[in-house]
Amino acid sequence: MVNTATAPARGTHIRASAVSHHFDLPAGPLPVLDGVDLDLAPGEFVALLGPSGCGKSTLLRLVAGLEPATQGHLTQDGAAITRPDPSRIVVFQDPTLFPWRTVRGNVSLGLQARGVLKAQRHRVDEALALVGLTEFAEAFPHQLSGGMAQRAALARALVNDPSLLVMDEPLGKLDSLTRLTMQGELVALWQRAGFSALLVTHDVEEALFMAQRVIVLSDRPARIVAELHNPLPYPRHRGDPALAALRHTALRHLGLDATW
Ligand code: ADP
Ligand code: MG
Repeated sequence: MVNTATAPARGTHIRASAVSHHFDLPAGPLPVLDGVDLDLAPGEFVALLGPSGCGKSTLLRLVAGLEPATQGHLTQDGAAITRPDPSRIVVFQDPTLFPWRTVRGNVSLGLQARGVLKAQRHRVDEALALVGLTEFAEAFPHQLSGGMAQRAALARALVNDPSLLVMDEPLGKLDSLTRLTMQGELVALWQRAGFSALLVTHDVEEALFMAQRVIVLSDRPARIVAELHNPLPYPRHRGDPALAALRHTALRHLGLDATW
């Protein structure tokens, strides 16, 4: 459910119905997704949690419109998703900034590509402020820490004012302290900007700390094995006993009968 008290519902409605997908390999088809149904309400924050290699990134690529599903339907606000669109932005684990452009230059890319940079230059400053990089606008990527580079990549996404932010293990390469900080920052960004958020992670704590709903996937081919609702209000506290209970349930669904 969307927590309207924390997130303005100005995101987008994403629906995946009976989505199955395989890759054609020389040895034969490799099934990757098996009948996945996913419903993401406007402004909702959902995490996909599953073992490495189960098909999480593939599902995100289908939602982003980067490739068509072998079977099933994907829609955004009722319209079929057939290609990438600036309203659905993907942030990857690797920030992939252009090294020869400043932070501002990197963040400007989307507006420049659409020929609206001159008219909407103020949005670059807004996006930089949103991720706390105003003072580093003229820095080059090699001058940034890992966390700052990922913030710059987020600003580059947010400058397009997406209605869906798709994140593929966006914090996976960060050191653990930066990661914890960024988890809180991302949630705050989502609350302010109001986009729908779809986060892929294999980190149980991260999924439960950030999302309103956590969808647990099986080993490849990914099927939905459980759906956990996290009704805790934001900001959340990592020591909350309710989080510990949800963590236990999530681990059990991942096949880890946690006694620790
Ligand atoms: P996850 O993100 O959960 O780790 P992926 O969706 O990246 O998993 O990959 C799922 C499976 O599909 C893996 O076995 C991977 O090797 C395979 N795969 C992913 N992309 C391709 C591709 N373009 N061609 C062939 N196989 C792929
Ligand atoms: Mg992946």
